[in-house]
Amino acid sequence: MKPFDFQRADTVPDALGKLAPGGAYLAGGTNLVDHLRAGIREVDQIVDVSRLDLTEITETSGGSVRVGAMVKNSDMAAHPFIRERYPMLSEALLAAASGQIRNMATTGGNLLQRTRCVYFYDPTTPCNKREPGTGCSAIAGFGKYNALFGASEHCVTTHPSDMCVALAALDAVVVVEGQGGERRIPFAEFHRLPGDTPEIDTNLRGGELITAVELPPVPVAAHSTYRKVRERASYAFALVSVAGALHLEGGNVKEVRLAFGGVAHKPWRAQKAEAYLTGRPATPENFRAAIEAELADAQTGPENAFKVPMLRNTVISVLEELVENRTAQRRAEQGGAA
Ligand SMILES: Cc1cc2nc3c(=O)[nH]c(=O)nc-3n(C[C@H](O)[C@H](O)[C@H](O)COP(=O)(O)OP(=O)(O)OC[C@H]3O[C@@H](n4cnc5c(N)ncnc54)[C@H](O)[C@@H]3O)c2cc1C
Repeated sequence: MKPFDFQRADTVPDALGKLAPGGAYLAGGTNLVDHLRAGIREVDQIVDVSRLDLTEITETSGGSVRVGAMVKNSDMAAHPFIRERYPMLSEALLAAASGQIRNMATTGGNLLQRTRCVYFYDPTTPCNKREPGTGCSAIAGFGKYNALFGASEHCVTTHPSDMCVALAALDAVVVVEGQGGERRIPFAEFHRLPGDTPEIDTNLRGGELITAVELPPVPVAAHSTYRKVRERASYAFALVSVAGALHLEGGNVKEVRLAFGGVAHKPWRAQKAEAYLTGRPATPENFRAAIEAELADAQTGPENAFKVPMLRNTVISVLEELVENRTAQRRAEQGGAA
């Protein structure tokens, strides 16, 4: 590992002031340290931000929930605001990594974790994301984790985060601080598709520090869930995952939120499926038609074609589960009132 200068920041302005060109912030270190060790990344300087006072989960006057960038993934998953108002987010966090890693990993670091493509992790192979201009080995190579949506000829990989799939469904806002002051980035604009610059994952500007994630009030999210399909029951990244929320009125879909993981370079908000379902009866036939509307744009190769039926079945199953729970909940409420 290349030697680097190490500094610790006590406040946000201190962190912004200390970061030098070629430097990186260090939070939980569960992704960055792996990259330094594997020779995927070299830095001249580390600014440790893990002790910044950004560890609170609070409610804003507008009813949003503000999660500090240094809140650990395990603490966010367990917080009553998250469990009660955004269960899909709590479930997504708990579906990730292991207990030990969740105790170290932070909200800000999770947003910036990088792909798990095997070629990105192998410095002996070409990878445009690791070394621009060298080519994409995954296109003709091991493609199990390749994207269905939004890939380019330069990169076909997927985003690995579970937390971010739920944040996409919730229209979260990423709050960042830079030399020019605070900036608020809508979640849909935070991560990028690969295009011809796959080495750039997000629209964060150089030196900016993530200070918080804000979750707007989303009443439908109280009735939500997260389903992750993976090769082992724990400690594995998603092949596909689905964050879903559903609000029914008289058997019709009043509001639906759907976001997918494991299928694109960024968490994928299923806008076509949502648009198809809204206002229609909540039937298995309509759930199937909704996912087909989204899948019309899917691009597959021999190694990732299995994700199409996997995603279709997972989406239908998640929506059916949400309908069943809703029906059971309403019956219980009516029974209680009688
Ligand atoms: C074995 C293993 C299994 C895993 N399984 C899963 C899984 O199933 N699902 C999943 O979603 N994740 C999984 N992860 C990934 C894990 O969630 C991330 O490593 C973690 O969330 C990163 O957070 P961190 O605080 O450790 O970030 P760090 O490693 O400290 O930082 C990551 C990046 O973010 C930057 N950074 C950190 N904080 C800030 C900030 N506030 N502002 C600006 N830049 C910042 C750093 O400079 C670095 O570039 C796994 C990790 C491991 C090691």
